[in-house]
Amino acid sequence: MSPSVAIIGAGFGGLCMAIRLERAGIHSYTVYEKADGLGGTWRDNSYPGAGCDIPSHLYSYSFEKYTSWTRRFPEQPEILSYLEHCADKYRVREKIRFRTEVRRAVFDDGAWQVTSYAGDEERTETYDVVVMGVGQLNRPRLPDIPGMADFEGVSFHSARWDHDHDLTGRRVAVIGSGSSAAQLIPRVAEQAEHLYVFQRTPNWVIPKPDAEFGPLARLAFRFVPGLQRVYREWIYRYAEGTLHPALAQGWSAEPLRKRALEHLHSQVPDPELRAKLTPGYPPGCKRIVIDSSFYPALTRDDVEVVTDGIVRITAKGVETTEGPYAVDTIVCATGFKSTEFLAPMEVRGRGGRSLEEQWADGAEAYLGISVPNFPNMFLLYGPNTNLGHNSIVFMIECQVAHVMSCLAYLSGSGPIEVRPEAMAAWRRRLDAAMARMVWGGDCQSWYKTAEGRVTNNWPGPTTLYRRLTARPPFRAYRPVSAGEALEPVGVAR
Ligand code: NAP
Repeated sequence: MSPSVAIIGAGFGGLCMAIRLERAGIHSYTVYEKADGLGGTWRDNSYPGAGCDIPSHLYSYSFEKYTSWTRRFPEQPEILSYLEHCADKYRVREKIRFRTEVRRAVFDDGAWQVTSYAGDEERTETYDVVVMGVGQLNRPRLPDIPGMADFEGVSFHSARWDHDHDLTGRRVAVIGSGSSAAQLIPRVAEQAEHLYVFQRTPNWVIPKPDAEFGPLARLAFRFVPGLQRVYREWIYRYAEGTLHPALAQGWSAEPLRKRALEHLHSQVPDPELRAKLTPGYPPGCKRIVIDSSFYPALTRDDVEVVTDGIVRITAKGVETTEGPYAVDTIVCATGFKSTEFLAPMEVRGRGGRSLEEQWADGAEAYLGISVPNFPNMFLLYGPNTNLGHNSIVFMIECQVAHVMSCLAYLSGSGPIEVRPEAMAAWRRRLDAAMARMVWGGDCQSWYKTAEGRVTNNWPGPTTLYRRLTARPPFRAYRPVSAGEALEPVGVAR
């Protein structure tokens, strides 16, 4: 009999899992989605200019090679409609329970008790397996600046864009200068009367060679046999062969630094502004911004880059160490609570072990997928599976394939859990590879905890990740019974 599966989240990960189950003839699953639509981050991030800096043909499922992309780099509406198309084509939409938030998942008596809320209506259902597809960037982080509540104008986070608020003729402050800010600033600058960009730390920026696919290119992708596959493979290999080595410490990052500095010099003629925008940490330590219209927007007469520290928000605007800036709109492009992973969901495994307690020193999971003491629970886009150089959709597909082979294994064995020795070997591999990468350097980023542990990124090549996730699960997993002793919390590294 097929296991029953609760999938939490209807973004790229959750949808991929649902589609793979459907295609395997397993219909005993439910997708829980707290919002009223699917798409996850691509539903939430609808700010002007939102898009992806990974090319369309790679930022899509390998089994649904979409031929209708209009641009080399997809914009948010097109990605969202691709996901809608996938949900309909593979008939998973009817399995999604929208406006239903899972707040608790408890492993009890050999099965998962999943408690969800649809409005005030609470419901607890039993499943053999839970698959967490909530992503890493789903909870906006508002800045902890004093006085936010005193502001008399309109303020919102980039991932909660207020589309009813017309920016025409407004004096706008954008706090933050990461990838989201870089995409929205050029669009906001076109509308606003004046724009202040509050930059705490500059980012390395490289150009985004975007282009529209003309009618001929689109016809070719559709009808020339193998073209789509070859193009996708080429983009993948380029990212793997060129960008991944650039994120390691040492000389291999030099071409990237040179490229970014050339881009800065070619787009920003003013030396004073250039100095403000030049980072003082190695490229890649924070997520590199890939954008060609960010710098030109910052050189406009009606845009000002403010690097003085923000002291507080007042009723009338932003006050810095150098004085006040009067604005009527504040956009917080201040990122996400990325290292908290499944929070605020309460997750309890064997013996009532809470995931929060187990992850007190930072989140970790075997292959980013499985957690000791939490049998039959699988994470998609979990700890240490984010990339700074290639498509997350590739990683998600590797994870879903792994979960599918685990499902086949547990169907014959009952609940399974990752073996302690597999977990220990994974930690060793991760730590050794992480030490070579640039992320642990002297910069603050959403890749790491306040203590400096990189919990979000995968340090190896994605080809290795595919190989590791493709191994048969019986080597790394074992059947467990409820009464077994728990694995210790945290492990000295
Ligand atoms: P982010 O990279 O975490 O950037 C947040 C920005 O807000 C940073 O500039 C940060 O400054 C600033 N900030 C935070 N708190 C602040 C405070 N209290 N005072 C002043 N400044 C503050 O977030 P994001 O731009 O939303 O991007 C998150 C990730 O989403 C990206 O790295 C990327 O992986 C993904 N994304 C991808 C795309 C794409 O094209 N694929 C597009 C958008 C987003 P500090 O640097 O000093 O901390």
